[in-house]
Amino acid sequence: MNHPKRYTITAALPYTNGPIHIGHLAGVYVPADIYARYLRLIGKDVAFICGSDEHGVPITIKAKKEGVTPQDIVDKYHAIIKTSFEDFGISFDNYSRTSAKIHHDTAQEFFKTLYNKGEFIEEVTEQLYDAEADQFLADRFVTGTCPKCGNEEAYGDQCEKCGSSLNATDLINPKSAITGNVPTLKQTKHWFLPLDKHEAFLKEWILEGHKKDWKPNVYGQVKSWIDDGLRPRAVTRDLDWGIPVPIEGADGKVLYVWFDAPIGYISSTKEWADRVGKDWEPYWKDKDTKLVHFIGKDNIVFHCIIFPAMLKAEGSYILPDNVPANEFLNLEGNKLSTSKNWAVWLPEYLEEFPNQQDVLRYALTANAPETKDNDFTWKDFQARNNNELVAIFGNFINRVVVLTDKYYGGVVPEASEFSDVDQDTLAALKAYPDVIASSIERYRFREASQELLNLARMGNKYLADEEPWKLVKTDEVRTKTIMFVALQIASALATLSEPFLPFTSDKLKSILGINSSDAIQENLMNNSWNDISSKDVLLPTGHQIGKAELLFSKIEDDTIQQQLDKLVASKKANEVANRKVEPQKETITFEDFSKLDMRVGTIIEAEKMPKANKLLVLKVDTGIDVRTIVSGIAESFTAEEVIGKRVTVLVNLAPRALRGVESEGMILMTEAEDGKLVFVNPDTTTGAKVPNGLQIS
Ligand SMILES: [Zn+2]
Repeated sequence: MNHPKRYTITAALPYTNGPIHIGHLAGVYVPADIYARYLRLIGKDVAFICGSDEHGVPITIKAKKEGVTPQDIVDKYHAIIKTSFEDFGISFDNYSRTSAKIHHDTAQEFFKTLYNKGEFIEEVTEQLYDAEADQFLADRFVTGTCPKCGNEEAYGDQCEKCGSSLNATDLINPKSAITGNVPTLKQTKHWFLPLDKHEAFLKEWILEGHKKDWKPNVYGQVKSWIDDGLRPRAVTRDLDWGIPVPIEGADGKVLYVWFDAPIGYISSTKEWADRVGKDWEPYWKDKDTKLVHFIGKDNIVFHCIIFPAMLKAEGSYILPDNVPANEFLNLEGNKLSTSKNWAVWLPEYLEEFPNQQDVLRYALTANAPETKDNDFTWKDFQARNNNELVAIFGNFINRVVVLTDKYYGGVVPEASEFSDVDQDTLAALKAYPDVIASSIERYRFREASQELLNLARMGNKYLADEEPWKLVKTDEVRTKTIMFVALQIASALATLSEPFLPFTSDKLKSILGINSSDAIQENLMNNSWNDISSKDVLLPTGHQIGKAELLFSKIEDDTIQQQLDKLVASKKANEVANRKVEPQKETITFEDFSKLDMRVGTIIEAEKMPKANKLLVLKVDTGIDVRTIVSGIAESFTAEEVIGKRVTVLVNLAPRALRGVESEGMILMTEAEDGKLVFVNPDTTTGAKVPNGLQIS
């Protein structure tokens, strides 16, 4: 495989208006981390860069709602998000934030360079305006119908349903997100990046240059935008939260969040370089640097069209070599949603599954939405843990360590002559680094994770076929050779699992005694990725390993059920919150109302109406008489449970026959949250009237 001199790897800047969930981890951060860790293991010069995206309209909306400042919002979530990344072992070289001074300076300088080169169009146009809020409406401040797909909840900058990138004035039936008003048009001056001017370059660079190596989902989206024709795009906004436009005559205007956010990769790289005493420029400007953006599919237009056009217009920067965007991860069949609390939040996961970060990393990788939307289910999570991590990976390591301890006091035994099977096994072992690397370098992380598991599978099969626990009684020499081979596989797993399961890899190295400072100094056993192929001995005879420790533990059904119950509770809460309220019926007069005669009755007999699922035939004491009422409540109650219930009865309803039984009145019911019927249940005595005459007016 050909490698450039250095790598700049960026992961989408998370937006600081909420914590992060499994969808973010699966879509962007775990694959990016696997890639970065792998490259470091093969000895590459890597800058793995990220930071919080702290500008833009949703943050100001959230701040307004909560009665705090936008800075309060971003401070809070920046801290939460940063901690989650650290907790899950996402190994950024630098995690910055776009409110940092270095970023404001870098973004303003970038804008000025383009401005001075005449790369913008300056234009006074009519923009949507909310007079009541005294605010221009762009981006998330305005919603309306998408002109491309008809989605009625499209935003002023993007339709999340079809992925179209929009201008606010494109929306059909626009509505202000602040007041709900229909906006008017008002003149304002803005600076536009003429994307149409870059169309030829984008066509050549992507449509011709990256036809083969970019993922089909990314390439296809980009192609459809370019085929649609690109238009100038405003890169400034009338807002008070963001980076001020650094030129004269731009008071009250800030850079569009999608103009400043990708520049955040550059400023975060600068911050890192300052800190570690490096020069940042080669990481962004040297042709021998490979730039890779890890993002979710909703960010494709910004990373494949707008940001490259900006970099190209600036003139001194390299362009991304690849943008391996993932599709979306769903949760138990439904779209992940922050507002509907349909998510698995990382801080919550860690509380409920302490020290099991690798299980989630693994489940999300093995089922990553690489080529199409995919579903995370708790059952799959449990199966990945129990059937793969516990039964295959953990089981193999445990057998090797326990047997080595039992037979040899934990000392790696001496190998004698290798059998054909031994030789084949060791040869297969040496092939694994390349096999896994080839998948990683093609951004096929699912495939890579399964190859890693195949190595553990091979180890298990080797032990099961060779049966050292039987041979130990008859052939000590052969047993030693078998255990020596098995220990080499265990050692390879400690290294090759690092990108995928960094916590497990650490633990395994410690069990095998290969991450102690002595072992590292001797450079004998803490192997690099390529050592697995090139070295004949990974764990030498005579080396002392430690005691067995469980790497993974079984996850029981009730633990999974608790998670499913939590989701069911979320769903119910959403249904209640989103229940459609029926419109009020036509107004009636007081006279109409006073015609109703309602009394409190007691059900004294009840039986199911034969051949009718919904009907119960009741005898009700109304205080006036005992009468028959047929009631459609049989799906909510059995006959037995309603006897003795006190109910509200409309007694002067004209009698009507239901299935041949005459019903003389109506029992008033209402509905519980789950749709079950409930009696309007008066806490009084039989025969009491529900007053509706003049006496209460
Ligand atoms: Zn749309």
